[in-house]
Amino acid sequence: MIYLDYSATTPVSYDVIDTINKVTKEYIGNSNSLHSLGVKSSELLKSATDQIASILGVSSNEIVYTSGATESNNLALIGTALANRKKGNHIIVSKLEHPSIYAICNYLESLGFEISYVKNDSEGLIDFDDLKRLVREDTILVSICAVNSEVGIRQPLKMIRQIVKKENFGTLIHSDMTQAIGKVSVNLHDVDLASISAHKIYGPKGIGLLYKNSNVNIVPIMYGSSKGGNLRPGTPPLPLIAAFSKAIRLANVDLEKRERFITLLNEKICEQMKKFPHVVINKTKYSIPHILNISFMDVMPETLIHALEKKEIYVGTNTACSSGELSTSVMAIYNDLERAKHTIRISLSFMTTTDEVNKFLTILTEEYQKLAKLH
Ligand code: PMP
Repeated sequence: MIYLDYSATTPVSYDVIDTINKVTKEYIGNSNSLHSLGVKSSELLKSATDQIASILGVSSNEIVYTSGATESNNLALIGTALANRKKGNHIIVSKLEHPSIYAICNYLESLGFEISYVKNDSEGLIDFDDLKRLVREDTILVSICAVNSEVGIRQPLKMIRQIVKKENFGTLIHSDMTQAIGKVSVNLHDVDLASISAHKIYGPKGIGLLYKNSNVNIVPIMYGSSKGGNLRPGTPPLPLIAAFSKAIRLANVDLEKRERFITLLNEKICEQMKKFPHVVINKTKYSIPHILNISFMDVMPETLIHALEKKEIYVGTNTACSSGELSTSVMAIYNDLERAKHTIRISLSFMTTTDEVNKFLTILTEEYQKLAKLH
């Protein structure tokens, strides 16, 4: 099998699986319990959290565990909106967000919040002038993903922060960093809130986190028994948290070296695909190499995906969360409906081999040519 859908989810690394097994077997206590088994669990919880915090360059008390980036996005946006109602009701997001952000925005609109969508240029970069123009006195939050999940556009968060804070120092900045962590370096201090998910970095599904700067106040979106002030009540899933901590550590190794290798694989695929007149590569100078989006204009993406699947090759449509629909990101960048309807997303990992890419290209070329002839 050749797996090229790493941006949808990654396989769990064996080291991480070992951690899950060990912690599940050896730490049976609830970390909130007062007895020694509880204390043993709470010590591990603390050391796992300290490790995550130190890798991310933040404080342990700035980490809130969630079930994944969807929940982190919900907590960030709804938690900020409800906490800041008296200050304002205006929120700005980009047109390159994950579908979960738009679903949350729709909900917030139903509560009376006003959402503005900042423009981007033809390379996918946020339009700084438009952003500057949109920030108002009642703007409570700007949410812009660090790396877009469909075309891999990376945004300059530091610059975005400067622009927003200059217009309104009180406006908070959230970034969905799900597709950035473990692929490119990020600085959490560029933002006030950030969403991260373990299953995109060779960790288990069902665990993520929200980074929340300690100066920022948001309200919980879930209520239950919890230790004082916890934004996410309930028993912490210790095996998943320990696994997340290991996954983050492993994911942050040799980022630049891995990126250089992935760039070569990406370029190899582009070179081959450029030969076909009806194939367009949706890539700009801001795309990270790990995510390669291509439109096969004369073939439906699901047909191509299923043809490849029969040969045990797995690629994605735009994002796993909006399969079958058009790529909103390709639309936002190129403003071309046909192009946006015909995308597939090939996502590469440091685990991908040159041999896999060669085999993939041979089979993709064969299958595509067969399907294009039927068109
Ligand atoms: N945000 C982005 C940018 C993503 O790529 C994804 C996963 N497709 C999510 C959020 C949702 O993450 P999770 O599956 O952890 O809820």
